[in-house]
Amino acid sequence: MTPSVEDLWFIPLGGSGEIGMNLNLFGHDGRWLMVDCGVTFEETVGGNEVQMPDPQFIADRADSLVGIVATHAHMDHIGALPYLADQFDCPIYTTSFTAQVLRPKLREAGCQAQLRVVEPRAQLALGPFSLRWLPITHSTPETNGLLIETAAGTIVHTADWKIDPAPVVGEGFDQPMWQALSNKTIDAVICDSTNALNLGHSLSEADLYEGLLEEVSASTGRVAIGCFASNIARLQTLGRVASASGRYLCLLGRSLIAMTAAAKACGYLTEDFEPIPPNDLGYLPAHEVMILATGSQGEPGAALTRLAANRHPILELDRGDRVIFSAKAIPGNETRIAAMEAGFAASGVEIVHAHRSNLPLHASGHPNAEELTHMYQWLRPAVAVPVHGEAAHMQANAELASRAGIARQLVGENGDLFRLAPMPSILRRAVAVGRLFEDKGRLRRV
Ligand SMILES: [Zn+2]
Ligand SMILES: [Zn+2]
Repeated sequence: MTPSVEDLWFIPLGGSGEIGMNLNLFGHDGRWLMVDCGVTFEETVGGNEVQMPDPQFIADRADSLVGIVATHAHMDHIGALPYLADQFDCPIYTTSFTAQVLRPKLREAGCQAQLRVVEPRAQLALGPFSLRWLPITHSTPETNGLLIETAAGTIVHTADWKIDPAPVVGEGFDQPMWQALSNKTIDAVICDSTNALNLGHSLSEADLYEGLLEEVSASTGRVAIGCFASNIARLQTLGRVASASGRYLCLLGRSLIAMTAAAKACGYLTEDFEPIPPNDLGYLPAHEVMILATGSQGEPGAALTRLAANRHPILELDRGDRVIFSAKAIPGNETRIAAMEAGFAASGVEIVHAHRSNLPLHASGHPNAEELTHMYQWLRPAVAVPVHGEAAHMQANAELASRAGIARQLVGENGDLFRLAPMPSILRRAVAVGRLFEDKGRLRRV
């Protein structure tokens, strides 16, 4: 199965029909380009398990793979590279922050893959694919979509995105740049479907400062905040909230330490972000403490989970203290989160959840219906290809595209061959797909 010079193909091996473990392949003129290679976390009888797409199809064609592009630093986009990249023997292209996050993970896994750092808005030819990095706003810095131009046609791959005019860290959404792409004839847009079922417009990261400050200031005891470590803008906002409320900031959890180090190395978190060492917490009055903690999803061993079970080595939360979830519950984690909440409630710790609060305490990184409509109206592609979602999300995304005047939508799933040029069509179940997991240092099929 080889695309000719007239063909432009898209084959997702992961992330279409599910949320997680994205792996996208683009094929043209006998060559392949990989965009993202992520993991998903699955609860199994053996515990929480890291799973990833079975890359057999592209591993069999590794010598025609021209490169791997990592669009951003989320684990559902880069998490499988440490396990799989050695099979492909080609460089990984990404911007500086994602490289900072990925490099130690590759090293830890003994992976030899080369990282090539590109500038936002860079242009690069990889084999028959001419690429342009398109900065886009999302819930982690330096996220980039891609313009992929070939002799057979042109694709815009949005990556994960939202329209955030004030993302706190990094530049605001560059609407003129996105609108200007309509000067080109775009054959297909491959587009994030995560929040296609939500009406209206997503909140901006900048909308959260007031609400978080109000929640933190209203507490008389210690405050612990659960948030995603990769959301550097949220960490920056919380640093400002700590100084405005007269509290010392303290980070609990390995991924927070790693993410803040990567952020600082790229010039982020330079002001209003001065965490104290955890061992100093014991010397401070309760009302001067603000903790950022990992474990908003109730992950076993994470800081919040241990605090809830009163098993944290350096800190105990008590009556009068408050836990704020500046995050949403990822579907599948509800039971764990409920168990964590029960633990806090048993100690008399007050719990504030973003989705139950009247104040804005969390903003999603994905586009709601209005944002999707704008994007389709700006790009006016011949075909819309919803990805990054379960069937219902992708269907909703397709309907929005149709209402925005996009003539064709191709909704498929992992393993389908999307022929984007010369004639758009889907060949269902064209390629074998599956999942791998790691078992005692070896990858096995699920
Ligand atoms: Zn994602
Ligand atoms: Zn993402």
